[in-house]
Amino acid sequence: MRTTVGWHAEPGNGAGTTPTLRRAPLERRDLRPDDVAVRVDYCGVCHTDLHALRAAGADGSGPRPLVPGHEFTGVVTETGTEVTRFRAGDPVAVGNIVDSCGACAMCRIGQENFCHDFPTLTYGGTDRGDGSTTLGGYSRAYVLGERFAYALPAGLDPAAAAPLLCAGITVWEPLRALGAGPGTSVAVAGLGGLGHLAVKFAAALGADTSVISRSPGKAEDARRLGARGFVVSTDAEQLAAARDRFDIVIDTVSAPHDLGGYLRLVALDGTLSHLGHLGPVTLETLDLLIGRKKLSSAGSGGRRGTAEMLAFCAAHGITADIELLPSARVNEALDRLDRGDVRHRFVLDLSDLDGSGRQGPTDG
Ligand SMILES: [Zn+2]
Ligand SMILES: [Zn+2]
Repeated sequence: MRTTVGWHAEPGNGAGTTPTLRRAPLERRDLRPDDVAVRVDYCGVCHTDLHALRAAGADGSGPRPLVPGHEFTGVVTETGTEVTRFRAGDPVAVGNIVDSCGACAMCRIGQENFCHDFPTLTYGGTDRGDGSTTLGGYSRAYVLGERFAYALPAGLDPAAAAPLLCAGITVWEPLRALGAGPGTSVAVAGLGGLGHLAVKFAAALGADTSVISRSPGKAEDARRLGARGFVVSTDAEQLAAARDRFDIVIDTVSAPHDLGGYLRLVALDGTLSHLGHLGPVTLETLDLLIGRKKLSSAGSGGRRGTAEMLAFCAAHGITADIELLPSARVNEALDRLDRGDVRHRFVLDLSDLDGSGRQGPTDG
């Protein structure tokens, strides 16, 4: 085993509280023949991290131990004896899946994210080799099988590229699967981590791209990201004008909400792709019936789709818009994410974990 340092959920905060993160050592396994060891340089802060922390605090149902983080970039430091795709020094990116069965129908078509045996999550998952609970990228080192490490293309800023590996791929796969491109119209609801990347992707794919938002003040930001249209979702006139207009509506709103409002903006035979929120939804089937509309969802991506997205990003110069913070400020980042106070994704710089450990305000 090798010891590194990471940000752990504080145990025993009690029911109903969201645990804060505390700096502490953690162990990584010795390399298996197909493993790579990665020095984690940058890790994005995802809504899932917040949910996992809440679950851990609410009733203990969340993963224990818990080190969040599942969209990170770094550099390979060591390779197992059978690794063929990487060498020490290679820049790499890792997302929210680190293993899958490799044999089921989904794995065979490159949708490892839908593995019938459930993909091994980057944190809070169960390692297929030793049964241990996986610990995430809010740490200075990670060890994983090379299948789920991706070469980070030259030219992509490694800090701003980190969010591509969860937020990015989660919107990339549905946009591709639904045929976003020239001659199609795409609307994106929500301009957080997922939404702002969906706008950049849809525009770069050649779709006529719009943003749906409650806040008229976000129109300028939407345009800067590549949107040509903007619909204020609290304005009845604008909603009426946008009725049945978009071939694809990408819904990245993370709070539970009724789907009717967005479905009414979907064009004949178009699709609402509901991505930001997991759990039950309310829906009037007439909103599907009128216009033969489809409701869809997706999450994460397969190895092929992820590699394709990274190549597209390199070709089009696309990365996330980020606020980069030293990892010692992780609790502040989570708190601000919870309040929606981020443009558009926090990324932690984990190099401060190399120091003595005295610099963190939450330390000790
Ligand atoms: Zn995520
Ligand atoms: Zn599988």
